[in-house]
Amino acid sequence: MPGERAKVLITEGEIQARVAELGRQISADYLGKEPVVVGVLKGAFIFVADLARHLTVPVSFDFMAVSSYGAATQSSGEVRIVKDLDESIEGKDVLLVEDIVDTGLTLSYLQRILLSRKPASLKTCTLLDKPDRRKVEVALDYRGFEIPNEFVVGYGLDYDQKYRNLREILVLARGS
Ligand code: 5GP
Repeated sequence: MPGERAKVLITEGEIQARVAELGRQISADYLGKEPVVVGVLKGAFIFVADLARHLTVPVSFDFMAVSSYGAATQSSGEVRIVKDLDESIEGKDVLLVEDIVDTGLTLSYLQRILLSRKPASLKTCTLLDKPDRRKVEVALDYRGFEIPNEFVVGYGLDYDQKYRNLREILVLARGS
């Protein structure tokens, strides 16, 4: 879109260092277990791929894709499951991996759905957290970075399906 400008908020080096640290922490916490990492598409695909290579416990991967209903129902936090998990998570140790938590509505809905499927445990890891915008309390076990209330793109996050491939996290300043 004309007039888009962007400034780097988190550099590639900072992301990679933090992802490695999260990988070490998660591996230590899940020692002796075989967690199922559930990535939320599309935004978390790059984070999951990088995190995966820092996990040293036996792990399997599954993915869900969700989209929110229209603005009218946003306050209810209802999200539509576009793609569900391939495998049952009953009795499994599940690590849900998100790109960003904003109002918390999406994550709280996902946590409810996954918990209803009776996993042995459920923890949540998000790369980015915008706590200023929270509307509902959500449990976060692992968090990459806390960021201010700005619209960010890159490293999996899009604006109009673009910029997911960028290696850093950028703030998109819209307008002239
Ligand atoms: P929540 O339900 O927590 O309000 O929103 C979570 C979803 O909103 C994220 O998974 C993401 O798709 C989208 N989102 C929230 N903030 C941003 C942002 O700054 N940039 C991008 N690209 N998406 C965002």
